[in-house]
Amino acid sequence: MIVKLEIYSPRLSGICYVEGIGLSSNVYTIGVDEITVIDTGAGDPMNTLPPKLKTLDLDPRNVKQIILTHTHFDHTGGIEALASMASPRVLLHEDQIDDVVGFGLGVSKLHNGDSVLAGNRRLEVIHTPGHMPGAICLYERQDKILFSGDTVFPDGGFGRTDLPGGESRKLVESLARLAMLKVDFILPGHMEPVTSDARTHLATAYENAKSWL
Ligand SMILES: [Zn+2]
Repeated sequence: MIVKLEIYSPRLSGICYVEGIGLSSNVYTIGVDEITVIDTGAGDPMNTLPPKLKTLDLDPRNVKQIILTHTHFDHTGGIEALASMASPRVLLHEDQIDDVVGFGLGVSKLHNGDSVLAGNRRLEVIHTPGHMPGAICLYERQDKILFSGDTVFPDGGFGRTDLPGGESRKLVESLARLAMLKVDFILPGHMEPVTSDARTHLATAYENAKSWL
């Protein structure tokens, strides 16, 4: 599915959703004239971003910044195709600053508590280690939107901790912090966006992780 999320709620206006096919992460965009891309998908032929952006009436040459929730390949593989059409800067948590290589793009470090402007939205960086040491979520406080990367998934799901750098205890701590936020929409790195009962999904993820990990 490739869709403008305002079909679910006017509070999601300006945000688009490109579903990841196969192993690829989802991709979210904010804005039109100056586009912010959150995660880039795997970049394989099924997930090549520029043509997908065009179906949303978005010009890939307008991509100004790419925010990575973390640097697993299924979230970063799409950078190359965007870098060939534009010169976006790449923003990622300081703990993974060395993970992104090449493409000649400028890289900026993010820290817990930083804010990133994306169009008229202000995204707060929340460091959520556990799935990966430098994993982040992005919280848009005004409309209570959480871009949750691979930290939280719908229906009480949460990120795996058995990959390099994964740490169960830290994931539970991260989920505890997220569960305290006022969230009405969860835009996860995999599976479909949550547009109702988001706080229940978050609380369930925390409870599940506490009892399973
Ligand atoms: Zn991941």
